[in-house]
Amino acid sequence: MKGGESSAFFIVYTNGKGQAMDLTSIQEIKAVAKRFGFHFSKGLGQNFLLDPSVLQHIVKAAGAADGILEIGPGFGVLTRELAQAARKVVAVEIDNSLLPVLEYTLGEFDNVQVVPGDILKMDIGALLHDAFGDGRVSVAANLPYYITTPIITRLIESRLPFENIVVMVQKEVAMRLCAQAGTKDYGAVSVLCSYYTDAEIVARVPAASFYPPPKVDSAVVRFHMLERPRVAVRDEKLLFRVVKAAFAQRRKTLLNCLSSGLGMDKQAMAGLLEQAGVAPGIRGERLNLLEFAAISDVIQKNM
Ligand code: SAM
Repeated sequence: MKGGESSAFFIVYTNGKGQAMDLTSIQEIKAVAKRFGFHFSKGLGQNFLLDPSVLQHIVKAAGAADGILEIGPGFGVLTRELAQAARKVVAVEIDNSLLPVLEYTLGEFDNVQVVPGDILKMDIGALLHDAFGDGRVSVAANLPYYITTPIITRLIESRLPFENIVVMVQKEVAMRLCAQAGTKDYGAVSVLCSYYTDAEIVARVPAASFYPPPKVDSAVVRFHMLERPRVAVRDEKLLFRVVKAAFAQRRKTLLNCLSSGLGMDKQAMAGLLEQAGVAPGIRGERLNLLEFAAISDVIQKNM
């Protein structure tokens, strides 16, 4: 095991200078912050994970890909665990003041590359290609909550060769991402996730498991990327226009939502829903992905 000594009971990592380093300890985090004059930024979602069992859940859920892309390494607590398990880890960090800290905490690992920058502005395909060639890659991230939805949708829609995407997100968001049809959390994003992935919550994480603690509880979601989308549709863009329109006004019937959302005559839309075998008076939140796909295909055929 690289950079650490293991016994049957515990593993001790060092900072490469022979000193034990435990980044899950608040004392250690405070000591490292003091040493580097680091100040936590709320705006960048800097709440660092303290629970070693959650770190292991994330590493296990990421699985045995050729490489790992980590978003937001912070002080490197998760990065260190990932580096033990994967051939190579590339960690993208927006906050330049963390770069000297990461040099210190990750110095002993020669399979970790820290890339400074904003993940939202990066060409992720080019980054993966440079770092991992054609290998399969998993993503692991304790995500800053302000980028949760844009980054997850971008990753799962990207068609890049991801094996698993494992992200810590706000608990309520996790429920929405993994929700099934007919439940209160079900929405357009749940349909998107089920189109591209098998999504499941693999750990629930209370706010007290972070330093500093955020205001909300969290959960770890694992998206296992499907080889191809779960259903084949004639026009993917239209499918997601239909889904968006169906959830736009949750208290209205599907017929009303679709005719106003897609700008179509109500009577014509009722006929199309009948052709798709879907009752016009139903609410969008009751439809599963297959039913949305059927509606979208019937609309496309009649356009
Ligand atoms: N991985 C560490 C952990 O688990 O303790 C830190 C996680 S902390 C919730 C989020 C990290 O993402 C911070 O280090 C923050 O600076 C970084 N970050 C915020 N926005 C980012 C962005 N747009 N691109 C890359 N990193 C970002």
